[in-house]
Amino acid sequence: MSKMHDVIVVGAGPVGLLCALDLARRGVRVCVLELEPSTTIDLRAGTFHPPTLEMLAPLGVTDAMLEIGMKVPIWQSRDLEEGLIAEWDMSILKDDTPYPFRLHLEQHRLTPILLEMLSKHDNAELLFSHEFLSLTQNADHVSVLAKHQDQESHLLAHWVIGADGGKSAVRKSVGIEFDGYTWPERYSVVSTTHDFSHLGYADNAYVSDPDQWVAFFRMPDKGPPGLWRMTIPVGQSYTDEEILDPKYANSVFQRVLKTPPEVQYPIVHQSVYRVHQRVANQFRRERVLLAGDSAHVNNPLGGFGLNSGIHDAMNLTEKLSRVVLGGESSALLDLYERQRKTVNMEYVQEISIKNKHNLEEADPQVRHERFAQLRKINASEALSREYLLVSSMINSIKKANSIS
Ligand SMILES: Cc1cc2nc3c(=O)[nH]c(=O)nc-3n(C[C@H](O)[C@H](O)[C@H](O)COP(=O)(O)OP(=O)(O)OC[C@H]3O[C@@H](n4cnc5c(N)ncnc54)[C@H](O)[C@@H]3O)c2cc1C
Repeated sequence: MSKMHDVIVVGAGPVGLLCALDLARRGVRVCVLELEPSTTIDLRAGTFHPPTLEMLAPLGVTDAMLEIGMKVPIWQSRDLEEGLIAEWDMSILKDDTPYPFRLHLEQHRLTPILLEMLSKHDNAELLFSHEFLSLTQNADHVSVLAKHQDQESHLLAHWVIGADGGKSAVRKSVGIEFDGYTWPERYSVVSTTHDFSHLGYADNAYVSDPDQWVAFFRMPDKGPPGLWRMTIPVGQSYTDEEILDPKYANSVFQRVLKTPPEVQYPIVHQSVYRVHQRVANQFRRERVLLAGDSAHVNNPLGGFGLNSGIHDAMNLTEKLSRVVLGGESSALLDLYERQRKTVNMEYVQEISIKNKHNLEEADPQVRHERFAQLRKINASEALSREYLLVSSMINSIKKANSIS
């Protein structure tokens, strides 16, 4: 007879590892199943907002991130034609958060931190190369069917968290719909050693343009001076192969930075991916809970995806540990769904879509009205603070906490 875990977490991405770490440190017996033989390394999220750093601080994760990450207190709104529109100084939030900045750190540098911390807990088990296949549940527990080296076996737990990403097999196995849509364009992410700061670029800048907007981020990489990363949308007329040709990335850099073809940008990484706006119609089905990309996906404009996944994880683990260890009613887990689903619909989806529309707006009059509005907000400390409370997700957490 298989051992009964308190919780099985499916997926050792940042959200799954964090769920496991926070549950384990609270005393819950947890087992993580991960399809891959190790944590993955690729170009994904890399911006952490103040509430995320606040939530991770009690676990010691924030201090570890600050050691290798890059503090970005200033970010810019730019336009390809008009140049700088507004420069946002997050130190205005110094009375709202102990972390009045964005922290840039590659997602694949966060997961080893979480992994190492998790390995110190005897009540946590991590099984790599274990694929979740399906589950059945009854009033008492969940039985998970997993595959390891062509061998199938059943694992038992009282609760399962699906943190297995946008294509979540857990979500599919309990028949939860993933409502929303996929954008027609793909996004390309490119990083280079070329330094843009001498061109007046802050370490994070969003450049609007009706033909092709660009989001720039300076990332810490293995240490100073770091790498510059750009994210761009690419239309359907290009194949993935064409997008991944360094010549294409160079032509975009030359166009945006207005440099002649002789200026070449050494390309370090490139990737291309599809972007969706989708939210699961339930975050809980009886003993199965969803968190992170398995529950919601969005475009990266604003850096909300991973941050909101971490906010899910910390909200869920606090409640689930009270149910598991404190014998509290599982109705508490419906509150998790109400808080996190509402905020995702009303905040993450709405604002990430608005950010995208603003950057690609083609009507010159609408564009100029938006620039005028941004300049007006930027000129006032009170309005800037309100603007930054939204963009830094502080208001989204206040909203979630206000839902009972
Ligand atoms: C290609 C790509 C590029 C992205 N780029 C950006 C970006 O530039 N900026 C940004 O803000 N956000 C970006 N995102 C979004 C961001 O990376 C996600 O929000 C974040 O990874 C969510 O973390 P997660 O732990 O929920 O899911 P994931 O990081 O996807 O982790 C899920 C884990 O579950 C595992 N898994 C999947 N299926 C199974 C199974 N059946 N059994 C066991 N394990 C399984 C996977 O191997 C993986 O380790 C990107 C996402 C993708 C997919």
